[in-house]
Amino acid sequence: MSNLLQIHEPGMTPAPHEQEAGAAVGIDLGTTNSVVAIALDGAAEVLTDAAGHTLLPSVVAYGEDGGVEVGHAARAALASRPDQVISSVKRLMGRGADEVKRLAGTLPHALAPASAGGMLRLQVGARAISPVEVSAEILTALRQRAEAALQGRAVSRAVITVPAYFDDAARTATKDAARLAGLEVLRLVNEPTAAALAYGLDHGAEGLYAVYDLGGGTFDVSLLTMEKGVFQVLATGGDAALGGDDIDHAVAERFLAERALQGESAVSSGAAKQALLAARAAKEYLSDHETGDWTLEIDGRASRHSLSRAQLEELARPLVGRSLAICRAVIDEAGLTPEAIRGVVLVGGSTRMPLVRAGVAALFGRPPLSDINPDEVVAVGAARQAEALTVGSDTLLLDVTPLSLGLETMGGIVEKVIPRNTPIPVALAQEFTTYQDGQTAMAIHVLQGEREMVDQCRSLARFELRGIPPMTAGAARIRVGFCVDADGLLTVSAQETTTGTLQQVAVKPSYGLSEEEMAAILQASMLHAREDMETRLHAEAVVEARRAALAVRAALAADGDLLSPSERRTIDQALAGLDEACATGGREAVSDAAQALDAASQSFAERRMDRGIRQALAGQAVERLSGALGLAE
Ligand code: ADP
Ligand code: MG
Repeated sequence: MSNLLQIHEPGMTPAPHEQEAGAAVGIDLGTTNSVVAIALDGAAEVLTDAAGHTLLPSVVAYGEDGGVEVGHAARAALASRPDQVISSVKRLMGRGADEVKRLAGTLPHALAPASAGGMLRLQVGARAISPVEVSAEILTALRQRAEAALQGRAVSRAVITVPAYFDDAARTATKDAARLAGLEVLRLVNEPTAAALAYGLDHGAEGLYAVYDLGGGTFDVSLLTMEKGVFQVLATGGDAALGGDDIDHAVAERFLAERALQGESAVSSGAAKQALLAARAAKEYLSDHETGDWTLEIDGRASRHSLSRAQLEELARPLVGRSLAICRAVIDEAGLTPEAIRGVVLVGGSTRMPLVRAGVAALFGRPPLSDINPDEVVAVGAARQAEALTVGSDTLLLDVTPLSLGLETMGGIVEKVIPRNTPIPVALAQEFTTYQDGQTAMAIHVLQGEREMVDQCRSLARFELRGIPPMTAGAARIRVGFCVDADGLLTVSAQETTTGTLQQVAVKPSYGLSEEEMAAILQASMLHAREDMETRLHAEAVVEARRAALAVRAALAADGDLLSPSERRTIDQALAGLDEACATGGREAVSDAAQALDAASQSFAERRMDRGIRQALAGQAVERLSGALGLAE
């Protein structure tokens, strides 16, 4: 029997280069829009469709006949047959059916029954389709676009970007989607890292950079450092529900209110959609113009609306302000000041707004870097990285773990093995030992999160290390290794070092953490730091006390005859007091009871030691004797 334990099916790893490798591209797989680019000899080019579009809306429409449309055509179908169109699927990548059920109703999609494996699926007409499949359609469209742009040359490999906070499940889901789309993933690269690479910050002076990414539905900010040729993400933050869409809503509300004043008050869901489309057009137009007019035509009745940039900015200011407050918090959390940051890269269509540029410039005290189109900068960086990985480059790319990874130890305490924000790839190990005499198996429980106790962290995987030779408690040496690869995927191994017994598991959780949960975890860990530490100290005291009680009970069973009945009573009372304190008492009560047991059993321990020494000497004497007589076998 193999002692290599795998609790999940192996991930769909790309096949090794069977045929001649195709071209390698960089892909920004966005929530709202996606982009594909290629770099040749260091010069990156964004690839367009036949109509000259660089952005591919991340929208997929499924036809009754089984046909699939992706991009602009699919987005146009949203108005006429919304039930068959999927948008913003990136928000669902790596999420479990259970987790998303809670969001049902707030989602723009109907949910289908989950697959047998608990995989989330969306109801599209008569079909149930997983987010991975939807994402694969977008990637296929990008691959085909690239192949057409490259005059039919095959495209088979890609660097794909993901948000820095994407967890294991979301990264794995992204890789699975690529595989379905016929793409080998050379590397998953964090979006902010790709943006910084596009500016060649890796070749520039060393220092600290910020990436401010305001897209359609999400806001992300990251701090990166460049040191001795090594590029790292230092810290990340953001809001998964803040973006250009929110500005569209504010403008649409204004338009509908004006329309009501003009006597056209019917507010149907169709009216809201029309208003949103007009609002978005107005917002984008006002990035380059001071003022404009728009007509809303709903149910054959038209209303006119004018909007100036100043009025738009009044509506957008609170939203932009929220993003800037998050930037300040992230800089603070990293123990830095805005002045320490040498450059700021703008990413995302919403950073075209002059209000955003001015706000970022004011916060950081310098104009942001914006020479590269903010819609394209991530794909350009990914293309550069794809070239570096296939043709070669001396750039070393480092990302960090978004949350701490650790193990459950006795008492429900989480021992962190890899702290949050550790650069990856990374391999770290820690030694653990057995708790009970003769223990031959050990449960390994892998957790993710910032809090001190197991029930406050997220469980990633459980497995058991068996075949530990029976030894006294604390004698076995068990090395547990955590390895996070360059794509951010985790493998955990456990090995008993005296026998070499090894078990290993690739952690592929069935679903991931939502960004909201991620933010909540980080916030809770800061809020609860002190009480968590107290809980942990208490749990440790209980573990220590129970271990001592266990040892005394084992000793009583073996050598109880050394005690007079009254001595025995005193120890039994101390044991009962300790049990009571462990069950109900505070940390002080537990350590007092442990001390009392120690005092009560002091002379018993001495007598046992004497007996042990006498027995050992007696044994030795017999051995020596038999050796001298030549009787030894
Ligand atoms: P994502 O990263 O979510 O895929 P993008 O970076 O493509 O999103 O950004 C899409 C958002 O950018 C939309 O809200 C869109 O309205 C906004 N946007 C695009 N162009 C402009 C512009 N010229 N002015 C203001 N907002 C814009
Ligand atoms: Mg984006």
